[in-house]
Amino acid sequence: MRAVGIVAAAGSGLRLGADLPKALVPLAGRPLVCWAVDTLRAGGVAEVVVAVPAAERAAFAAVLPPDVVLVEGGATRTASVRAGLAAAGPDAEAVLVHDAARPLTPPDVVARVLSALAGGALGVVPVLPVADTVVLVDDDGVVTGSVPRAPLRRVQTPQGFDRATLVAAYAVLDDAAELTDDASVVRAAGIPVATVAGDERAAKVTVAHDLALAELQVKA
Ligand code: C5P
Repeated sequence: MRAVGIVAAAGSGLRLGADLPKALVPLAGRPLVCWAVDTLRAGGVAEVVVAVPAAERAAFAAVLPPDVVLVEGGATRTASVRAGLAAAGPDAEAVLVHDAARPLTPPDVVARVLSALAGGALGVVPVLPVADTVVLVDDDGVVTGSVPRAPLRRVQTPQGFDRATLVAAYAVLDDAAELTDDASVVRAAGIPVATVAGDERAAKVTVAHDLALAELQVKA
């Protein structure tokens, strides 16, 4: 199955405390976005589009392979993926959307997502179980209830979609909508989303501690 990869890389490095876009922050000497592109390619995705912060296009072009297509991202992740989708070449029947912030995602995860799409899924996400007890709190931080843990899952990327399904789902999504992943966009359009096994190594780099863990993971 021919797939195009869209890497959402237009976020800031604010929570990481970085003074450059998070996707350009180095991990073992290479920007996070380079790791994310490599993972997609190693998992079987040839064509890759990267959504980057408008002001940083040259800096991304300097570190990424020349055959990667760069597009200007938007103010939200949803807007950035929308821009990436519009720039994807016409040939691919499937789309994999990946966070630049998940640099060490094993290519096996990509392969599992592609395989579920080849098996007929219209949307598929890698997931992991939740180990902690999850509670609800009120405005004062007082616990008001707990959520049964067994049916909860943590959702990772890359998330895979039948291309026509994802394009149609974004077309009916409100321009102002800010959803934190693409499975939510597809589900908002009434399309069921399947799951495959995720991987702890696909963890998202959000705060400095996550980057320190990723550095350890590279050395292990
Ligand atoms: O902020 P968060 O870590 O949830 O972002 C997930 C991914 O979405 C990151 O790789 C980030 O670069 C990307 N993003 C984007 N455009 C935005 C905000 C975030 O491409 N406006």
